[in-house]
Amino acid sequence: MTRKLIVGNWKMNGSLAANQDLLHAVNAGLAGVACQVALCVPAPYLAQAQMVSSGGGLLIGAQDVSAHAEGAFTGEVSAAMLRDFGVRFAIVGHSERRQYHAETDTDVATKAQRALAAGITPIVCVGETLAQREAGQTHSVVKRQLAAVIHTNGHCISEIVVAYEPVWAIGTGKTATPAQAQEVHALLRSQLAAATDHPERIALLYGGSMNPANAASLLAQTDIDGGLIGGASLKAVDFLAIVAATAH
Ligand code: PEP
Repeated sequence: MTRKLIVGNWKMNGSLAANQDLLHAVNAGLAGVACQVALCVPAPYLAQAQMVSSGGGLLIGAQDVSAHAEGAFTGEVSAAMLRDFGVRFAIVGHSERRQYHAETDTDVATKAQRALAAGITPIVCVGETLAQREAGQTHSVVKRQLAAVIHTNGHCISEIVVAYEPVWAIGTGKTATPAQAQEVHALLRSQLAAATDHPERIALLYGGSMNPANAASLLAQTDIDGGLIGGASLKAVDFLAIVAATAH
Protein backbone atom coordinates (compact mmCIF):
# COMPACT_ATOMS: atom_id res chain seq x y z
CA MET A 1 0.00 0.00 0.00
CA THR A 2 1.70 3.17 -1.11
CA ARG A 3 -1.06 5.74 -1.00
CA LYS A 4 -2.80 6.38 2.32
CA LEU A 5 -6.60 6.46 2.47
CA ILE A 6 -8.59 8.70 4.80
CA VAL A 7 -12.35 8.10 4.97
CA GLY A 8 -14.87 10.18 6.90
CA ASN A 9 -18.04 8.59 8.26
CA TRP A 10 -20.64 11.26 8.91
CA LYS A 11 -23.03 8.71 10.43
CA MET A 12 -26.58 10.15 10.73
CA ASN A 13 -25.50 13.78 10.81
CA GLY A 14 -25.93 16.68 8.42
CA SER A 15 -28.42 18.88 6.61
CA LEU A 16 -28.42 20.27 3.09
CA ALA A 17 -27.20 23.64 4.33
CA ALA A 18 -24.51 22.37 6.71
CA ASN A 19 -23.25 19.78 4.24
CA GLN A 20 -22.75 22.41 1.58
CA ASP A 21 -20.18 24.28 3.68
CA LEU A 22 -18.47 21.11 4.92
CA LEU A 23 -18.21 19.51 1.47
CA HIS A 24 -16.87 22.68 -0.14
CA ALA A 25 -14.33 23.21 2.64
CA VAL A 26 -13.06 19.62 2.46
CA ASN A 27 -12.96 19.57 -1.32
CA ALA A 28 -11.08 22.87 -1.44
CA GLY A 29 -8.59 21.60 1.15
CA LEU A 30 -7.58 18.62 -0.96
CA ALA A 31 -5.64 20.47 -3.64
CA GLY A 32 -2.17 18.95 -3.85
CA VAL A 33 -2.92 16.24 -1.28
CA ALA A 34 -1.23 12.93 -2.07
CA CYS A 35 -3.51 10.53 -0.21
CA GLN A 36 -6.98 9.34 -1.24
CA VAL A 37 -9.84 10.97 0.65
CA ALA A 38 -13.47 9.91 0.81
CA LEU A 39 -16.57 10.92 2.75
CA CYS A 40 -19.30 8.40 3.53
CA VAL A 41 -22.46 10.49 3.77
CA PRO A 42 -26.08 9.57 4.60
CA ALA A 43 -27.83 8.16 1.51
CA PRO A 44 -30.14 11.16 0.92
CA TYR A 45 -27.10 13.41 0.56
CA LEU A 46 -25.21 11.31 -2.00
CA ALA A 47 -26.37 13.46 -4.91
CA GLN A 48 -25.34 16.64 -3.13
CA ALA A 49 -21.94 15.19 -2.24
CA GLN A 50 -21.44 13.94 -5.77
CA MET A 51 -22.28 17.38 -7.19
CA VAL A 52 -19.97 19.32 -4.87
CA SER A 53 -17.08 16.89 -5.27
CA SER A 54 -17.25 16.48 -9.03
CA GLY A 55 -14.03 17.60 -10.63
CA GLY A 56 -12.29 17.70 -7.23
CA GLY A 57 -10.25 15.14 -5.35
CA LEU A 58 -12.96 14.08 -2.93
CA LEU A 59 -14.41 10.59 -3.37
CA ILE A 60 -17.89 9.67 -2.17
CA GLY A 61 -18.93 6.69 -0.11
CA ALA A 62 -22.05 5.19 1.45
CA GLN A 63 -22.42 3.98 5.04
CA ASP A 64 -24.14 0.71 4.20
CA VAL A 65 -25.43 -1.29 1.25
CA SER A 66 -28.23 -3.83 0.93
CA ALA A 67 -27.39 -7.53 0.94
CA HIS A 68 -30.04 -7.89 -1.79
CA ALA A 69 -29.73 -6.97 -5.46
CA GLU A 70 -33.23 -5.49 -5.91
CA GLY A 71 -36.90 -6.06 -5.15
CA ALA A 72 -39.26 -6.00 -2.20
CA PHE A 73 -36.89 -4.79 0.49
CA THR A 74 -38.50 -1.58 1.75
CA GLY A 75 -36.03 1.02 2.94
CA GLU A 76 -32.97 -0.71 1.51
CA VAL A 77 -30.53 0.83 -0.95
CA SER A 78 -28.84 -1.46 -3.47
CA ALA A 79 -25.24 -1.39 -4.61
CA ALA A 80 -26.36 -0.59 -8.17
CA MET A 81 -28.29 2.45 -6.89
CA LEU A 82 -25.22 3.65 -5.02
CA ARG A 83 -23.15 3.19 -8.14
CA ASP A 84 -25.62 5.42 -10.03
CA PHE A 85 -24.56 8.22 -7.69
CA GLY A 86 -20.85 7.75 -8.30
CA VAL A 87 -20.26 5.99 -4.99
CA ARG A 88 -16.74 4.53 -4.77
CA PHE A 89 -16.81 3.06 -1.26
CA ALA A 90 -19.42 1.47 0.99
CA ILE A 91 -18.86 0.82 4.68
CA VAL A 92 -20.08 -2.66 5.60
CA GLY A 93 -20.30 -4.20 9.07
CA HIS A 94 -19.84 -1.00 11.05
CA SER A 95 -20.17 -1.93 14.72
CA GLU A 96 -23.25 0.29 15.04
CA ARG A 97 -24.97 -1.82 12.37
CA ARG A 98 -23.79 -5.06 13.95
CA GLN A 99 -25.05 -3.83 17.34
CA TYR A 100 -28.30 -1.99 16.52
CA HIS A 101 -29.36 -3.88 13.40
CA ALA A 102 -28.13 -7.34 14.40
CA GLU A 103 -25.96 -7.70 11.31
CA THR A 104 -24.12 -11.01 11.32
CA ASP A 105 -20.73 -11.89 9.85
CA THR A 106 -22.59 -13.58 6.99
CA ASP A 107 -24.67 -10.45 6.30
CA VAL A 108 -21.49 -8.39 6.20
CA ALA A 109 -19.81 -10.82 3.81
CA THR A 110 -22.83 -10.72 1.48
CA LYS A 111 -22.94 -6.94 1.56
CA ALA A 112 -19.24 -6.84 0.64
CA GLN A 113 -20.01 -9.19 -2.25
CA ARG A 114 -22.85 -6.95 -3.51
CA ALA A 115 -20.62 -3.90 -3.36
CA LEU A 116 -17.76 -5.60 -5.23
CA ALA A 117 -20.15 -6.85 -7.93
CA ALA A 118 -21.24 -3.24 -8.54
CA GLY A 119 -17.67 -1.94 -8.72
CA ILE A 120 -17.80 -0.38 -5.24
CA THR A 121 -15.00 -0.96 -2.74
CA PRO A 122 -16.39 -2.32 0.51
CA ILE A 123 -14.80 -0.97 3.68
CA VAL A 124 -15.19 -3.99 5.93
CA CYS A 125 -15.26 -3.04 9.61
CA VAL A 126 -14.03 -5.46 12.25
CA GLY A 127 -13.39 -4.91 15.93
CA GLU A 128 -13.83 -6.21 19.43
CA THR A 129 -15.91 -4.87 22.31
CA LEU A 130 -14.30 -3.89 25.59
CA ALA A 131 -15.55 -7.10 27.23
CA GLN A 132 -14.03 -9.16 24.43
CA ARG A 133 -10.68 -7.34 24.75
CA GLU A 134 -10.64 -7.84 28.49
CA ALA A 135 -11.42 -11.52 27.99
CA GLY A 136 -8.40 -11.85 25.67
CA GLN A 137 -10.63 -12.46 22.64
CA THR A 138 -9.52 -9.58 20.39
CA HIS A 139 -7.63 -11.78 17.92
CA SER A 140 -10.28 -14.47 17.65
CA VAL A 141 -13.09 -11.92 17.17
CA VAL A 142 -11.46 -9.91 14.40
CA LYS A 143 -10.21 -13.06 12.68
CA ARG A 144 -13.69 -14.57 12.72
CA GLN A 145 -15.25 -11.37 11.32
CA LEU A 146 -12.69 -11.12 8.52
CA ALA A 147 -12.75 -14.85 7.77
CA ALA A 148 -16.43 -14.64 6.81
CA VAL A 149 -15.66 -11.94 4.24
CA ILE A 150 -12.66 -13.85 2.87
CA HIS A 151 -14.72 -17.03 2.61
CA THR A 152 -17.42 -15.35 0.50
CA ASN A 153 -15.18 -13.04 -1.53
CA GLY A 154 -11.92 -14.96 -1.76
CA HIS A 155 -11.31 -14.47 -5.46
CA CYS A 156 -11.43 -10.67 -5.22
CA ILE A 157 -10.35 -10.15 -1.65
CA SER A 158 -7.48 -7.87 -2.67
CA GLU A 159 -10.11 -5.33 -3.78
CA ILE A 160 -11.54 -4.72 -0.33
CA VAL A 161 -10.54 -2.23 2.35
CA VAL A 162 -10.50 -3.37 5.97
CA ALA A 163 -11.09 -1.04 8.91
CA TYR A 164 -10.04 -2.17 12.38
CA GLU A 165 -12.37 -0.34 14.72
CA PRO A 166 -12.21 -1.41 18.35
CA VAL A 167 -15.79 -0.89 19.50
CA TRP A 168 -14.62 0.58 22.81
CA ALA A 169 -12.80 3.35 20.92
CA ILE A 170 -15.65 4.47 18.65
CA GLY A 171 -17.08 7.83 19.63
CA THR A 172 -15.71 7.45 23.16
CA GLY A 173 -12.58 9.59 22.95
CA LYS A 174 -10.58 6.46 23.90
CA THR A 175 -8.11 5.53 21.19
CA ALA A 176 -6.17 2.32 20.80
CA THR A 177 -2.49 3.04 21.33
CA PRO A 178 -0.44 2.91 18.14
CA ALA A 179 1.09 -0.36 19.40
CA GLN A 180 -2.33 -1.91 20.14
CA ALA A 181 -3.63 -0.90 16.72
CA GLN A 182 -0.48 -2.08 14.91
CA GLU A 183 -0.65 -5.47 16.63
CA VAL A 184 -4.17 -6.11 15.31
CA HIS A 185 -3.36 -4.68 11.87
CA ALA A 186 -0.38 -7.04 11.56
CA LEU A 187 -2.64 -9.94 12.46
CA LEU A 188 -5.20 -8.91 9.82
CA ARG A 189 -2.45 -8.48 7.23
CA SER A 190 -1.16 -11.99 7.86
CA GLN A 191 -4.70 -13.39 7.64
CA LEU A 192 -5.12 -11.64 4.28
CA ALA A 193 -1.71 -12.92 3.14
CA ALA A 194 -3.08 -16.45 3.38
CA ALA A 195 -5.91 -15.48 1.03
CA THR A 196 -4.14 -13.38 -1.59
CA ASP A 197 -0.67 -13.02 -3.08
CA HIS A 198 -0.94 -9.26 -2.69
CA PRO A 199 -1.97 -8.46 0.88
CA GLU A 200 -0.03 -5.20 0.67
CA ARG A 201 -2.59 -3.91 -1.85
CA ILE A 202 -5.34 -4.01 0.76
CA ALA A 203 -5.66 -0.77 2.70
CA LEU A 204 -6.00 -1.42 6.43
CA LEU A 205 -7.61 1.56 8.15
CA TYR A 206 -7.70 2.29 11.85
CA GLY A 207 -10.91 3.78 13.24
CA GLY A 208 -11.85 4.85 16.75
CA SER A 209 -11.58 8.43 18.01
CA MET A 210 -8.84 9.33 15.54
CA ASN A 211 -8.25 13.08 15.72
CA PRO A 212 -5.67 15.68 14.68
CA ALA A 213 -3.65 15.06 17.86
CA ASN A 214 -3.27 11.28 17.57
CA ALA A 215 -3.46 10.74 13.80
CA ALA A 216 0.24 11.05 12.96
CA SER A 217 1.40 8.44 15.48
CA LEU A 218 -1.29 5.97 14.41
CA LEU A 219 -0.68 6.54 10.70
CA ALA A 220 3.08 6.04 11.18
CA GLN A 221 2.56 2.36 12.05
CA THR A 222 3.76 -0.15 9.46
CA ASP A 223 0.41 -1.78 8.82
CA ILE A 224 -1.86 1.25 9.26
CA ASP A 225 -2.64 2.53 5.77
CA GLY A 226 -5.18 5.17 6.72
CA GLY A 227 -8.09 6.04 8.93
CA LEU A 228 -11.86 5.78 9.22
CA ILE A 229 -12.94 8.93 10.98
CA GLY A 230 -16.31 9.53 12.64
CA GLY A 231 -16.66 12.60 14.86
CA ALA A 232 -13.63 14.44 13.50
CA SER A 233 -14.97 14.20 9.94
CA LEU A 234 -17.78 16.61 10.83
CA LYS A 235 -15.37 19.55 11.12
CA ALA A 236 -13.43 20.40 7.96
CA VAL A 237 -10.45 21.77 9.86
CA ASP A 238 -10.08 18.59 11.95
CA PHE A 239 -10.66 16.25 9.04
CA LEU A 240 -8.14 18.11 6.88
CA ALA A 241 -5.60 18.05 9.72
CA ILE A 242 -5.89 14.25 9.77
CA VAL A 243 -5.47 14.19 5.99
CA ALA A 244 -2.34 16.35 6.42
CA ALA A 245 -0.99 13.92 9.04
CA THR A 246 -0.63 11.27 6.32
CA ALA A 247 2.27 13.28 4.91
CA HIS A 248 4.40 12.97 8.09
C1 PEP B 1 -16.61 5.45 13.20
O1 PEP B 1 -17.79 5.66 13.43
O2 PEP B 1 -16.29 4.70 12.27
C2 PEP B 1 -15.61 6.10 14.04
C3 PEP B 1 -14.36 5.72 13.95
O3 PEP B 1 -16.07 7.07 14.89
P1 PEP B 1 -15.19 8.05 15.81
O4 PEP B 1 -14.04 8.55 14.98
O5 PEP B 1 -16.12 9.14 16.21
O6 PEP B 1 -14.72 7.24 16.98
